[in-house]
Amino acid sequence: MKAMESTASVVRRLITKGDQLMKSLTFALILLLLPSVVLAQSKSVLIEDLTWTEVRDAIAAGKTTAIYYAASTEQNGPGLALGKHIFIAHYAAQRIAEELGNALVYPTMPYAIAGDPIKKTGHMRFPGTVSVLEETFGAVARDVALSAIAAGFKNVALMGDHGGGQQTLKKVAEVLNAEWSPKGVHVYHISDLYFKEKEQMKEYLTKRNMAIDQHAGIDDTSEVMFVDKENKWVRKDKLAPDDGKMGVIGDPTQAFIELGKMFVEFKIKNAVTQIRSLTADKK
Ligand SMILES: [Zn+2]
Repeated sequence: MKAMESTASVVRRLITKGDQLMKSLTFALILLLLPSVVLAQSKSVLIEDLTWTEVRDAIAAGKTTAIYYAASTEQNGPGLALGKHIFIAHYAAQRIAEELGNALVYPTMPYAIAGDPIKKTGHMRFPGTVSVLEETFGAVARDVALSAIAAGFKNVALMGDHGGGQQTLKKVAEVLNAEWSPKGVHVYHISDLYFKEKEQMKEYLTKRNMAIDQHAGIDDTSEVMFVDKENKWVRKDKLAPDDGKMGVIGDPTQAFIELGKMFVEFKIKNAVTQIRSLTADKK
């Protein structure tokens, strides 16, 4: 009996020791991870999060690609917030830069060509939408690209989340690239982000007999659901199929988060692949 008790107490002591060992190991692990957490905070790829000296040092250390991602502030029906493109652009641009490993992101351009404010056409029929002239849209892209060149970036990648303005970005990139490439600086339009994703999305939905997104339908709504980590931007009770009267063309009720993740990942992968191939021999 006595021998039994002492065995039990030995086992108890061992368990307690094991517990203490686990506790100290966990503590050591936290201490080890702490600097990297602190470091990660100051290692944002967003220029708006950095100081000018951090941007200077990052470029000098090899972050020589600048990302300019244009979004739009436009109506998306009663179920989806006006910042749709902004939310997607802000998320995707960071991920693109992180995956490239040698890029920083300029602040998301919040405006695009979205209708005529005087005649109230297109998205301008609905309050909250902002539309800029094509010249303005192009001029901002050009001026940010020139600012990136002034900072010392060697490659500037222009891309847009909204359909209107893709050709404008292409033109701006071509003009700047012709001017700057003899000096070793390149400006590109990353068309695959928009056009290739649209093809992939259409192919995926067609195969599954789902309606193809026109505006604020399955594609757009699913993408926002995915990037909406705090559930701020989708009004699920207001999502409804529409023929344009309320600003939706399509059926957002079929949207779901996993679909959005897939489509946003398409955008990121398309952009990373195109930027890598364009800049491969021009670092
Ligand atoms: Zn749009």
